[in-house]
Amino acid sequence: MEWSRSETVALARNSCTQCHGLGLRLGRGGKVNPCNCVLRSIFRACHARFRYCATKEKYMSRISLEFIPGRERSSSWGRKDEEYVADFILVSRRSLDEFEYQIFKYHFLLGADWKLCCRRLRIDRGTFFHAVYRIEHSLGRVFRELEPYGLFPLDEYFNGSVRSGLGLVPKPPAVAMIASRATRPVVPALRKTA
Ligand SMILES: [Zn+2]
Repeated sequence: MEWSRSETVALARNSCTQCHGLGLRLGRGGKVNPCNCVLRSIFRACHARFRYCATKEKYMSRISLEFIPGRERSSSWGRKDEEYVADFILVSRRSLDEFEYQIFKYHFLLGADWKLCCRRLRIDRGTFFHAVYRIEHSLGRVFRELEPYGLFPLDEYFNGSVRSGLGLVPKPPAVAMIASRATRPVVPALRKTA
């Protein structure tokens, strides 16, 4: 995928000394790369959503009709919050090495602070924070670049808007409502029984 300034400028840190708030940096061979401040803000947005989904009461989770882009233009029933929590963990597990995943697990999934992580993993403070920055940068990029559907932008992930040649095409919210009314007898059968 190509990173564009229109996307990165909203995510970049104004005071960033690397990109000066533009969010892009010129890499080797003239290749345009997202700045680390952009990748970090993508990771932090995804992590905040993970914490929100993982901590809210289970009964609040709702079933939603998802729009699946593609030739068939089909839809399916899904539990977005649970799916997101699982995707967040699985994608991270796949992208990090063993050491990074240990830090990711203790710090980002279980919420342990740096002191606890350092004691548990027998590392010093500098090693811990270097690893944390590395994790934030690499996962920020993975969450955005993941094909066919990234975890970021979050509204695309949760609301099912799709990218087209003309930009974002949001799913009409009425679809879910009409469908749930039309199929009312089916809804109780879909409720979580456990
Ligand atoms: Zn920057």
